[in-house]
Amino acid sequence: MAAEVVVVGSCMTDLVSLTTRLPRAGETILGHKFFIGFGGKGANQCVQSARLGAKTSLICKVGKDSFGNDYVENLKKNGISTAFVGQTTDAATGTASIIVNSEGQNVIVIVPGANLLLNFEDLKRASDVICNAKVVVCQLEITPAVSLEALKMAHASGAPALADLDPQFYTYSDIFCCNETEAEILTGIPVGNLEDAEKVGRMLLQRGCKLVIVTLGAEGCMMISAEEPIPKHVPAGKVRAVDTTGAGDSFMGALAFYLAYYPKLPMEEMIRKSNCVASVSVQASGTQSSYPYRKDLPQDLF
Ligand code: ATP
Repeated sequence: MAAEVVVVGSCMTDLVSLTTRLPRAGETILGHKFFIGFGGKGANQCVQSARLGAKTSLICKVGKDSFGNDYVENLKKNGISTAFVGQTTDAATGTASIIVNSEGQNVIVIVPGANLLLNFEDLKRASDVICNAKVVVCQLEITPAVSLEALKMAHASGAPALADLDPQFYTYSDIFCCNETEAEILTGIPVGNLEDAEKVGRMLLQRGCKLVIVTLGAEGCMMISAEEPIPKHVPAGKVRAVDTTGAGDSFMGALAFYLAYYPKLPMEEMIRKSNCVASVSVQASGTQSSYPYRKDLPQDLF
């Protein structure tokens, strides 16, 4: 069965150690807890979309190793098609080694590994699913040229940011979504308030975007479109945030779901509903572990 939401992106295994303090160079310290989590922007967004009920396929590459095997299992458990999840012996599954101290500060080493081996051939093999998807979602945790090729094949997507982004990313995305940090990297405008986000939106429209969304954490989002260049603030509900890690991916996964299944909803309403989903995710800890399932959400979101 064809997937409605297709994500071309990354899988990362998070290796998280909790310690009282961060080690100095050359130092060995004892931690008090270790856990493994499933991450990577591509997989995160796909998981959130699937948990809302979307028929999804993830096009990605992991290692032919135990982390890769576990990741494939995790995707299957979430009901995601793994027909185009490649496993390679040429690199290890992507990892994020994370140390978090008792104040919540962290150091992180990301080794993209197999993610960078996803190539044009893999996209060609998956071209039917990409071209028949209602929504194709890309980020930039794989080789940028591969993301761009996927966008060109689909000509429909939303994508986060890189400093020297090929301008074609703006024109081939139907929706371009970035957070405050990414917005500053892209435009040089530090985003501290809604007015700054509006300036970012206008600049990205000038670069060829059709619709720009800037996520603003607890403040929700700013949206602006070429069709209606009056910026709109779509606020998020007030909640007690426990852990905002991966909130942006929850938002994007939810938005992909609404685009695929409720295409007639006004964009502002899709964003409002996606804010609601993401604001549920910040009330639990972890990344994918905090993403809500459809059955646990208010039914007026559907
Ligand atoms: P991350 O990098 O942690 O995945 P992000 O920086 O990409 O997140 P944010 O802008 O922080 O993304 O948040 C994305 C969305 O999540 C927001 O637009 C909002 O809908 C929701 N959100 C984030 N933080 C909060 C919060 N404290 N309260 C309510 N909703 C929140």
